[in-house]
Amino acid sequence: MSFTLAIVGRPNVGKSTLFNRLVGKRLALVDDQPGVTRDLREGAARLADLKFTVIDTAGLEEATDESLQGRMRKLTEKAVDMADICLFMIDARAGVTPTDQVFAEILRKRADHVILAANKGEGAAADAGVIEAYSLGLGEPIRLSAEHGEGLNDLYSQLQPLADAFEERAEAASDTPETDVTVDEDEDDPDYVPMPTNAKPLQVAVVGRPNAGKSTLINQILGEERLLTGPEAGITRDAISLRMNWNGTPMRIFDTAGMRKKAKVQEKLEKLSVGDGLRAVKFAEVVVVLLDAAIPFEQQDLRIADLAEREGRAVIVAVNKWDIEDEKQSKLKDLKESFERLLPQLRGAPLITVSAKTGRGLDRLHDAIMRAYDVWNRRVTTAQLNRWLTGMVEAHPPPAPQGKRIKLRYMTQAKTRPPGFVVMCSHPDKVPESYSRYLVNGLRLDFDMPGTPIRLYMRGQNDANPYKGRKKAPPSKLRKHTDGRRK
Ligand code: GDP
Ligand code: GDP
Repeated sequence: MSFTLAIVGRPNVGKSTLFNRLVGKRLALVDDQPGVTRDLREGAARLADLKFTVIDTAGLEEATDESLQGRMRKLTEKAVDMADICLFMIDARAGVTPTDQVFAEILRKRADHVILAANKGEGAAADAGVIEAYSLGLGEPIRLSAEHGEGLNDLYSQLQPLADAFEERAEAASDTPETDVTVDEDEDDPDYVPMPTNAKPLQVAVVGRPNAGKSTLINQILGEERLLTGPEAGITRDAISLRMNWNGTPMRIFDTAGMRKKAKVQEKLEKLSVGDGLRAVKFAEVVVVLLDAAIPFEQQDLRIADLAEREGRAVIVAVNKWDIEDEKQSKLKDLKESFERLLPQLRGAPLITVSAKTGRGLDRLHDAIMRAYDVWNRRVTTAQLNRWLTGMVEAHPPPAPQGKRIKLRYMTQAKTRPPGFVVMCSHPDKVPESYSRYLVNGLRLDFDMPGTPIRLYMRGQNDANPYKGRKKAPPSKLRKHTDGRRK
């Protein structure tokens, strides 16, 4: 449902007839509930490829006295306020009446998008009324016959560009990015990586402990760029995002803590809860975990990085305040060691040293974000995977628990963002964690997917499956393995 269309106009012009034509049999059940007086009818409408919600002011009666006119007015205003687009209908056979003029005035004042329709337009008897409709000052009327289904093409061509605009608006307003996208091997181009655009910028969250330098980092990035469009509140009040064009990449950077700072909730700032981190992480495609070089990999940092991995986001670790580090070489070695030991689930994820203050390392950070995003979107064809699986099994066959050899039969990529794979095998529940880890690490190396979370599911053959014939095995038959420490 990309938008809502309200059909308004005085009684008997043909609103319900059009409503029924657009909705067909898909009328919402709510309408049939007894005891509910509903003055507005709502239905799921379809016109060619457009799907939208349509509202009809069904309860209108002919206004003969003051109170009825007031009621009609109220109801119409309510419909107009609920709608993105209003279809204002007159009866072309009757021509423009004084009541029509009252409606036209309401619409001119209140509605953003008005489409004027002269209904009952079939036949010459409507010619004069269609011409008269121009006098309402609402643009060119569509000549419509709701009863005979004429003029719907013209309605479509007026709705379609608006529908596109609403779709874009909906996408821009949505803070949560698309994740766990199903791979369709027949349709998808394996090399396709969605390029960030101004309409769909790359969503990045900068997370880390208070005073790690998140605000300084974001300001530094902004300072280098002139294309800032200003802070904008997200749908969730706690999130604030900044749109920018960083080294040519349209980005939207989420900074949850920054918002809190501006709201002067200083006490809460001291305790960055996992909840805060979660919120920022949810908005992101790529998560930058910013560490303070002086106190790296504290418990909080680890929890947030782990959380980002569990949420299936691409993760980058950036070590900040590198400008005041004396022993850079040995420090870097230490950091890399700690990273591998403490965050094995992010094996191969980039570790970048930066100085938010001086701006050093920011280009490398940008490039690491782009690479991580690329890997996160990576697609491997089934043919490649199966050739690879054969090699992996030959090099290191799976164990034979209780004498039963586990056969890995077939492998395919089911998801991207992050990459998720399914291995069809005998005894999926007997495959040890270590063997799954072997496969995941192999995938990382052989298909160049460092850092990004990789999901690997072991699944039993369908013929040994009581749910045979179903397209998907129920979730209980799926066993998820990752290369992390979690069970
Ligand atoms: P509403 O009160 O605006 O919802 O109007 P209805 O949809 O109930 O229609 C009022 C009357 O106009 C009904 O008798 C319909 O059959 C008739 N009507 C609706 N659309 C057309 C049309 O395109 N041409 C003609 N000739 N009659 C129509
Ligand atoms: P936030 O709480 O994570 O947003 O951290 P801030 O951006 O407010 O930074 C906390 C403190 O660290 C401030 O005093 C900054 O000036 C300082 N700081 C941030 N980045 C750097 C850096 O790269 N080098 C140095 N030396 N100090 C920094």
